[in-house]
Amino acid sequence: MAKEPTFENALAFASDLIRIPGLPGAEGEVARRVREEMEALDLDDVRVDATGNVIGIARGRGDAPSVLLNCHLDVVAEGDPDAWEIPPFSGVVKDGFLHGRGAMDIKGQLALQTYAVAALKGKAPGDVIAAHTVMEERGGLGMKLLLESGLRPGAVVIGEATRGDVCIGHRGRAEVEVVISGLAGHASAPDRAHNALDLLGDVLAATRELAGALPEDPVLGRSTAVATSVDVLPSSRNVIPDMVVVTLDWRILPEDDDEVLLERMRTALALCLPTVPDGFGVEVRMAAEAQRTYTGLEVERNMFSPGFLMEADHPMVTAAARAVGRRDAPVAPATVRPWTFATDGGWTCGVFGIPTLGFGPGEERYAHTNRERLDVEEAAWAFSRHGPLILAMQEALAAR
Ligand SMILES: [Zn+2]
Repeated sequence: MAKEPTFENALAFASDLIRIPGLPGAEGEVARRVREEMEALDLDDVRVDATGNVIGIARGRGDAPSVLLNCHLDVVAEGDPDAWEIPPFSGVVKDGFLHGRGAMDIKGQLALQTYAVAALKGKAPGDVIAAHTVMEERGGLGMKLLLESGLRPGAVVIGEATRGDVCIGHRGRAEVEVVISGLAGHASAPDRAHNALDLLGDVLAATRELAGALPEDPVLGRSTAVATSVDVLPSSRNVIPDMVVVTLDWRILPEDDDEVLLERMRTALALCLPTVPDGFGVEVRMAAEAQRTYTGLEVERNMFSPGFLMEADHPMVTAAARAVGRRDAPVAPATVRPWTFATDGGWTCGVFGIPTLGFGPGEERYAHTNRERLDVEEAAWAFSRHGPLILAMQEALAAR
């Protein structure tokens, strides 16, 4: 017999998940446990894909557009365990809160979503999919590959903490590198070298020039760019370096892509450094990183996580806000706003154009801290709102 999709069982499942650590690239045990729970809940077509994402489906009554509910399987590192008042992998419920790493980012919501999907089996007008992805905390490789594999739901709900609001977007993030090259030499004989550090001031000036000219979105705010690190190679203090890499942390708007970012930085450089002196080179490129999933998939990817923004008056958004309501005033529609942080919605909506919104319990201020916790009463309320939310989204999509 299938396990009952009750809030109490979902909370116990969340506690179990917190007890299984799983940094990005090491989510295998968490994935195994999620798959086991999906099977116990009798979801259809439960599977783990080649990337390591876990997927299960509650088949609907008809063929209304499907809705996909998503959380991520990975968590950020716990840091010094002694700095936690309650041990990071305890998963205990105490003083009305579920505690531990992942409690609100995002294993609590993952459990709620999975149970909410199971509760809709055979009841929704279309399929409801639970798909929990890997590597979100490293830029969302899991979601990117899930969508590249061809899965195309009618809409997506991201479970990142909204404190019960309906979230409709966020800025994205990119890392851009400016590489200054010169000629290395012995520090005792500067005449024989081209010191790459000589152009560092111009590159930093160009970064400020760039930052001052970035566009602003009325809802998401301003795009920002700031130099956050300088790598000098070789790093010996008695060698004149032939390479300096300046890295920019760039918070981007939904329409920005790699080419737009690189061109903006090149334009700023041309203003601050119109001619590159003989013997030097200056190159602008996206920072890249080799990533490996726990299933062994290796990908070299640019450090680029897209942003997205849904129209606040999109019929699916207004239907969702009405269906969720406000916890303190149930007849009023939920507050609609952007997130301040980035999510996998950048991939689903920003890149793949799938209508996406965020809904989940949890306070952002606890994320990535050693006080991470989820309010159990708020979680129970949010769990009860998932059914109406998904049905309203499917009806709004079917009516289009
Ligand atoms: Zn998260």
